[in-house]
Amino acid sequence: MKIARFFADSVVRYGIVEGDDIIELVDGEIPSEQNAVTYLLPEVTLLAPTAPSKVVAVGLNYTDHAKEVGMDLPDEPMLFLKPSTSVIGPDENIIYPVMSERVDYEGELAVVISQEVKNVSPDEAEDYILGYTCLNDVTARDLQIQDVQFTRAKSFDTFCPIGPWIDTDIDPTNVAIETRVNDKTVQSSHTKHLNWNVFQLVSFISRVMTLLPGDVIATGTPAGIGPMEPGDRVDVTIAGIGTLSNQVIEPE
Ligand code: MG
Repeated sequence: MKIARFFADSVVRYGIVEGDDIIELVDGEIPSEQNAVTYLLPEVTLLAPTAPSKVVAVGLNYTDHAKEVGMDLPDEPMLFLKPSTSVIGPDENIIYPVMSERVDYEGELAVVISQEVKNVSPDEAEDYILGYTCLNDVTARDLQIQDVQFTRAKSFDTFCPIGPWIDTDIDPTNVAIETRVNDKTVQSSHTKHLNWNVFQLVSFISRVMTLLPGDVIATGTPAGIGPMEPGDRVDVTIAGIGTLSNQVIEPE
């Protein structure tokens, strides 16, 4: 099942994507066939599929990416936060900040939490996962290096595109992930290469902080990180989910 959050007739709605249709959910449930209201996907505005209280991101979770930045894999997941105000949806613009001269894409598998969770084991984690989506962990690389800690580099408005929808059925340990800049493939990997899988990550993070419904975990990026420039279109595709596409623009 693919769950979308969308804007139609001046209202934010949730629905199930089936082909080119979105069937609107009523009180979170799929209505009976005679009561179903269906929208055409090309005629609505897709929004970020969740409005999280926080995005918890994981650094250095693919061996090949750790190698390309000259780091060893850490002994425990290396966590940082992206603020809720950095989240944008599919086809929204990534604004290149005035403060930076090097802004990178990082294509990532994202986990969306279904219910409040604290202190769970990896075996229990699946019960707290709604599904999975694509995420671009946009990073001002020059500021990340300059500041040492990550807050400014990871937190600009528009630096967390998410979407296009939440897929509830994929196997998160076994899907291909690809990033393209202007149709050129720049990252191509597979979630079987994740050092910590999504269940281990939900467990670990839930031992640090309470995760709330709709919260997002960005699971880390594979090798191939690189810069984006204003005018570029960046696509993150995960098999079984779909493609998140965003354009980079100059600051307003
Ligand atoms: Mg990242």
